[in-house]
Amino acid sequence: EDIRVYEFAEKLKRPMSDIIKVLFDLGMMMTKNDFLGADEIEILSEEFGVEVTIVDPKDEFNYVQETDEEDPNAVERPPIITIMGHVDHGKTSLLDSIRKAKVTEGEAGGITQHIGAYTIEQKGKAITFIDTPGHAAFSSMRQRGTDITDIVIIVVAADDGVKPQTLEVIKIAKDSGVPIIVALNKMDKETANPDLVKGQMAEHGISPVDWGGDVEFVPVSAKTGMGIDDLLENILLTAEVLELKANPDAPAKAAVVESSLEKGRGPVATVIVQNGTLKVGNNVVCGSSYGRVKALVNENGKQIKEVGPSHTAVVVGLNEVPAAGEIMMAMNSDKEAKEYAHKRYEYERNKELSKSTKSTLEDMTSMIAEGKLKSLKVVLKTDVHGSLEAIRSSLTELRNDEVKIDVISSGVGGITESDVELVSNSENCVLLGFNVRPTGSVKALAKQRNVDIRTYSIIYQLLDDMTGMLTGMMAPKF
Ligand code: GDP
Repeated sequence: EDIRVYEFAEKLKRPMSDIIKVLFDLGMMMTKNDFLGADEIEILSEEFGVEVTIVDPKDEFNYVQETDEEDPNAVERPPIITIMGHVDHGKTSLLDSIRKAKVTEGEAGGITQHIGAYTIEQKGKAITFIDTPGHAAFSSMRQRGTDITDIVIIVVAADDGVKPQTLEVIKIAKDSGVPIIVALNKMDKETANPDLVKGQMAEHGISPVDWGGDVEFVPVSAKTGMGIDDLLENILLTAEVLELKANPDAPAKAAVVESSLEKGRGPVATVIVQNGTLKVGNNVVCGSSYGRVKALVNENGKQIKEVGPSHTAVVVGLNEVPAAGEIMMAMNSDKEAKEYAHKRYEYERNKELSKSTKSTLEDMTSMIAEGKLKSLKVVLKTDVHGSLEAIRSSLTELRNDEVKIDVISSGVGGITESDVELVSNSENCVLLGFNVRPTGSVKALAKQRNVDIRTYSIIYQLLDDMTGMLTGMMAPKF
């Protein structure tokens, strides 16, 4: 529902200054790239006497086609499971013991790798588990509305009972509306008290089937392996009721559960396929990144040619690291993939620019008071999200009376040609890379455009340098 000021002006065939002036009179300082909200659009359309229908600009780059129609070629697919619970109640142990007991599919000789998800077989039926630390994927997917979990397993240690995080997890699971199974873990312990836990859970709206409720409570021990089979059987029974389906012949649609930049392999993303079959050689788009699938590697470290519904693989061949929760889609051509990725990049970038320039009347007053304020713009790329956040916030704190730092764009992944373009189109802007480097062609472009790329592997050196630059830019004092 956002439209940028200049686009609005173009649509109305009015000079942009008219639009900006009306907004200014209302106490909103906006520049040409800012997005107009629904309220502003309403005010403006009244002011200029036009009728406006609002369409979602996301449609422009939205490559994900959602249909409510049932695909006649859809067949049964395995369930996708997320395990959640209070810290130390045994999530990791449970995931490990299920995996150890059940990973089959002739992976002899393969090296078990942690890739963020894995598939096991129980009596000839597959089950996929999301296996990401802290369940970052679950929350980021929920935020993006691309929830792929079919069943949530809430782990509660039977010797410890319901804890604060258990309550959080109950809320998340209930909100997501997916079926819940409770695993009563650590049943090997003498102090285990399953009835106490059942009572506590029932108090919070999770009532056990054997008490007349609708949630299965399965006693297990991740340590001894007791009850694991029962748990898996319960998952299969629950899945049967859900009638989960996908069409293996459709164009691939997959969700990213984990991603990183790897030495030698470049950007990699672990995906779980939601529909269709993802194949080596497919042209894909994934948020603002795109590429041709160079290799697919499964959780046993084996290269595979394709990956079908509810199954998982590491995708090699993207140009940038996509965020967890992003949707990957196979496209008809390299060109199409690139186009969608670019539209998305532009959208995100403008949104970021808009965020950094949108001001209220109050801000304006202080900005006018700081008349000689200069700003140093920064485009920042890092290898992982952790360092991105750390550097970003340190940079924003680095300012003095005369100069401030504006991080106009930031992201995880290698330094790309688009980054160089962005920097070359902005005044007073530097390109910073942390643990990432530009490739030869990007370097060449940077040289041609006179763009300064600085790369670092130690955060304080980066911050030291930036402080130095700020000092250099300060207006001389007399
Ligand atoms: P997480 O924080 O939920 O991932 O919990 P972990 O899997 O790391 O387990 C926390 C601790 O509980 C570890 O020391 C495990 O060895 C232990 N633990 C997990 N499951 C069991 C179990 O079934 N029985 C016993 N006795 N200990 C367990």
